[in-house]
Amino acid sequence: MSAIPALRLAARAERLGTEGAFSVLARAKELERQGRDVIHLEIGEPDFDTPAHISESAWAAIRSGATHYCPSAGLPELREVAAAHLAASRGIDVEADRVLVATGAKPFLFFGVLATCEPGDEVVYPDPGFPIYESAIRFSGATPVPLRLHEEADFSFSLEELDRALTPRTRLVILNSPQNPTGGVLAPSDVAAAAELITASDAWVLSDEVYSEIVYEGEFRSIAAEPGLPQRTILLDSLSKTFAMTGWRCGYAAVPEPLVEPLTRFIVNSTSCVPPFVQHAAISALTGPMDEPRAMVEEFRLRRNLLVDGLNALPGVSCRLPAGAFYAFPNISAVGVEADDLASLLLEDAGVAVVSGSAFGLHGTEHLRLSYANSRENLDRALKRICRVLEKL
Ligand code: PLP
Repeated sequence: MSAIPALRLAARAERLGTEGAFSVLARAKELERQGRDVIHLEIGEPDFDTPAHISESAWAAIRSGATHYCPSAGLPELREVAAAHLAASRGIDVEADRVLVATGAKPFLFFGVLATCEPGDEVVYPDPGFPIYESAIRFSGATPVPLRLHEEADFSFSLEELDRALTPRTRLVILNSPQNPTGGVLAPSDVAAAAELITASDAWVLSDEVYSEIVYEGEFRSIAAEPGLPQRTILLDSLSKTFAMTGWRCGYAAVPEPLVEPLTRFIVNSTSCVPPFVQHAAISALTGPMDEPRAMVEEFRLRRNLLVDGLNALPGVSCRLPAGAFYAFPNISAVGVEADDLASLLLEDAGVAVVSGSAFGLHGTEHLRLSYANSRENLDRALKRICRVLEKL
């Protein structure tokens, strides 16, 4: 083979981060290929099947020829349905012409940052938080300003710290509730107080609400319901988690009017559109029965209780009870092993795949993230394996 020429890579490609969970998944799959038994608690996707009526709508749409390009902003019927869903679930007014559809929530995070931020701008984002936030901010050339989530306050942020983080250069504030990786749900009073601080700034808001339907206790409140916020908020939701549709790639957002056209151009330039048969499935999901998604949440609740009780019984481990999403984020600082090392020990020696909290930012380094989107039986087995590792340390 001829030598590989030393061609140059653009600097921006180096600025793009990644998701630790996918790296752990790759290593876990490699171990499985070698014949090892691995319990997967690393990846954030429901282990349930997509409800049958949703899949059936996609088949019907394919049979009726919905297999061609369609409007980049989304099928008008889906934009109507998504607007009605966002309006009813958040208690706000949403016009269908402010709703866009993309291949999951992720493009809205990426395009939302790229459309609003440039070098010299600052972006406030939760830490620990979903790693794509920091990745997109760095890619845009803007400066990431982490807003610490405090474990002792069930992973809420301090309003004084938010106030200090907001400067005349702040162009965007990213909020996420219920949260990945902590499972925390922001209290309505904090959401209202944050909204007041943000309206005094020149910042857009990106509110990542992909876990809004997975709440066990307390009240989920969208910042988009606060006075003055709809005009500056990209309100983001997705079919991935609510309907166990991670692989379908369909998300939707209500965006301020001035962002509709620019964000649509990002979609035109990248994916053109979401496959129309997927959008027909989305219409069926958003207008159909909610009994399966609700049953899924009830099962997650039982798993959460089992896992968190089990974690708290382990030596050196303490875990807050998460109020939403499907992650536990135990503190392992008393174990005496760094989170990165403990995560690899658990995978390599015990066949339990978890993600080190360091994958979610500086303030996650004393934690592990465990997804409980796995059966109660497997969670039980995983806890026993983790216990054996910790007892040997
Ligand atoms: N936002 C958060 C907080 C997430 O945890 C995830 C996925 O894990 C996403 C967005 C991406 O969701 P989607 O599959 O809709 O792109």
